[in-house]
Amino acid sequence: MSGNLFNDAVQFLENAARYAKVDPEVIQHLKNPKAILEVSVPVRKDDGTLDIYPGYRVQHNNTLGPTKGGIRFHPEVSLDEVKALSLWMTLKCAVVGVPFGGAKGGVAVDPKQLSRMEIERLSRSYIQQVVDFIGPRRDIPAPDMYTNSMIMGWMMDEYSCIRRQKTPEVITGKPIPLGGSLGREEATGRGAYYCIKEMEREFGWYPADKTVAVQGFGNAGQHVAQLLADDGYRVVAVSDSKGAVYVPEGLDVTGCIDAKNATRQLQAVYCEGSVCTAMDTQKLTNQQLLALDVDILIPAAMENQINLDNVNRIKADYIIEVANGPVTPDADTILSDSGKMVVPDVLANAGGVTVSYFEWVQNH
Ligand code: NAD
Repeated sequence: MSGNLFNDAVQFLENAARYAKVDPEVIQHLKNPKAILEVSVPVRKDDGTLDIYPGYRVQHNNTLGPTKGGIRFHPEVSLDEVKALSLWMTLKCAVVGVPFGGAKGGVAVDPKQLSRMEIERLSRSYIQQVVDFIGPRRDIPAPDMYTNSMIMGWMMDEYSCIRRQKTPEVITGKPIPLGGSLGREEATGRGAYYCIKEMEREFGWYPADKTVAVQGFGNAGQHVAQLLADDGYRVVAVSDSKGAVYVPEGLDVTGCIDAKNATRQLQAVYCEGSVCTAMDTQKLTNQQLLALDVDILIPAAMENQINLDNVNRIKADYIIEVANGPVTPDADTILSDSGKMVVPDVLANAGGVTVSYFEWVQNH
């Protein structure tokens, strides 16, 4: 791991380029994002004070179509991270044949410290700063970590107010009544599930014989866990930012989702519970979850989770990258050298952008 996520992304690209018959000039283009916008995002707090957060939007490459990629609200958002995520979006759209290029956006903010009203003002303020950079045929945002359909609805409304024109096609992942697409909510988890079903067909295993651990129990993690459990896979552990729950015989995944969401308040934007406080089961740290002796490990939280420090403790034979960049390049090499199979993020989590494409077409 270089300590710089964009350098890591470029290293993955260079490694892959050795196997692809691609003109070196194409690789040269892919190493350099097309356009970068850095903004200050002012937010009036409920107590009347003002906070200003750094915000970013990166359009990586638009050769195959308008650029596309989510917006993340997280304290660790940085320009390097957004550039890396935008490069992966370009590759992901190409892998699944969706006619979009790659983009990504984010605000360096801890959204858990903000009220619902403050998050609405943050969402609208971000759009005010990037309004001339994005557009329905230019660059189309979507949800990512700590942004959801409600936030996409606010952002679409703000863009439409500024343009004086209803413009649902400027953003995807919206609520259904505002032009969202059926199936978008679970699409990322479903795409990962289809990858596992293809492996099941290829390797001829039975779901009931396979154990699964899922790191990150948000939108993507919850849906892949639910689909696998419904199919007979034994999901033994799931985690969120506060820690993991573990039941060797298999968790009640529906119960975990209900328990995590039970404390959701009417005024809340995110579910406020944790799998740890909600479930009466064995508790593990996230590091212990990653090292569990399971067959399938699904990192679905954030980048750099499997790295040189912990890669030798990974026991799972199959690692499905539902998060973007959860395995660093050097850890990836060690995993494949030891015979483990990593399904890369640009394939494993491409279900989201696939259904986002349908939503965008429907909106047009
Ligand atoms: P989300 O905000 O819905 O959920 C994130 C989850 O991760 C939460 O449960 C949170 O508590 C947990 N988490 C945060 N930090 C953690 C840590 N250090 N250890 C363990 N858990 C932690 O986000 P999401 O939309 O599910 O996105 C998760 C990952 O999937 C991100 O890398 C995102 O880029 C990627 N992804 C999401 C989509 C999508 O459609 N939602 C599409 C493609 C890729």
